[in-house]
Amino acid sequence: MPAPGELIFAAPRRAKPPRHLADLDPAERRAVVAELGEKAFRASQLSRHYFVRLVDDPDEWTDVPRALRRPLAEALMPRLMTAVRHLECDGGTTRKTLWRLFDGALVESVLMRYPDRVTMCVSSQAGCGMNCPFCATGQAGLTRNLSTAEIVEQVVAGARALARGEIPGGPGRVSNVVFMGMGEPLANYKAVLGAIRRLTDPTPEGLGISQRSITVSTVGLVPAIRKLADEGLNVTLAVSLHAPDDELRDELVPVNTRWKIAEVLDAAWYYAEQTKRRVSIEYALIRDINDQAWRADLLGRLLKGRLAHVNLIPLNPTPGSKWTASRPQDEREFVRRLEAHGVPVTVRDTRGREIDGACGQLAAANT
Ligand code: SAH
Repeated sequence: MPAPGELIFAAPRRAKPPRHLADLDPAERRAVVAELGEKAFRASQLSRHYFVRLVDDPDEWTDVPRALRRPLAEALMPRLMTAVRHLECDGGTTRKTLWRLFDGALVESVLMRYPDRVTMCVSSQAGCGMNCPFCATGQAGLTRNLSTAEIVEQVVAGARALARGEIPGGPGRVSNVVFMGMGEPLANYKAVLGAIRRLTDPTPEGLGISQRSITVSTVGLVPAIRKLADEGLNVTLAVSLHAPDDELRDELVPVNTRWKIAEVLDAAWYYAEQTKRRVSIEYALIRDINDQAWRADLLGRLLKGRLAHVNLIPLNPTPGSKWTASRPQDEREFVRRLEAHGVPVTVRDTRGREIDGACGQLAAANT
């Protein structure tokens, strides 16, 4: 019997998510199977069911003896999350899913199908601790980190929906993954790195997505950017800059009071140098806040000659925020000035605004 106090303080969300095959590398999977007294090849069979056939229902594991299915499923493929609802727009080619995790925590993921690719935008944390005032996710604070398998399962669920033809456009595959959903991925470093490995390990041990098609977006946690640069990976780094001067960035991205713009960009250039990959600089254009011509020039001078490109994001509306997107003429002038400095720039085609599924709108309220 637990003491009464334990019942009060044992917050369910403190418990760890159940262990899942997607948390483990192939050797660890074999070890779990061996502990159950089974042959190692069962681990590869299960990996194939999960990552290739996208099947987690043991009744469909016809190559596994019936008596073994349940113990193996309990050990390696527990149910991690349940879809609470799907919201769709763009004729069903953009789909946001609200997930309830084992402890009641809620997260969202977004599938976006384009003519030439399918991008899954995944959450790495329930909530977020970074507190950026223009982003809906930060407003309720951080609930908890997701496990590696909880991140991977969001992508596998999207892959399943595509494979089963649930998304208009015929059967398809997930080609890209962006860590741009809820949470700060580099604040949950270990689980995110594990997820990158599972997503990019060749099939059947992983999903076989190309490393170049994965983007990790960060507010600028400098030591973690440098660590990621040293992992020998080929993933794209995106830095949420949003202001070229520390005075404004302190307000828009509060972690800037810890690591200033110069340090963040130094870490970004180190990343570019190590990986030879162009860093993406994210900049949400907010009317009369960060969209002035002089700020475009300042940004242009910071980025000139670097292995970088700017991705401008028209600000998406969030509840309770007084800020709004820039006027079209200010956006055009911002682009023009960056280009005048020779800095490549694109304006993000933000999807999912109608379903509160666009950048900064994921809040996972179950209403
Ligand atoms: N915490 C990470 C991952 C979130 S990615 C990060 O901040 O990079 C989501 C991207 O959308 C970030 O660049 C974020 O700054 C941006 N964003 C947040 N709120 C937004 C809003 N209301 N409109 C447009 N972009 C927003």
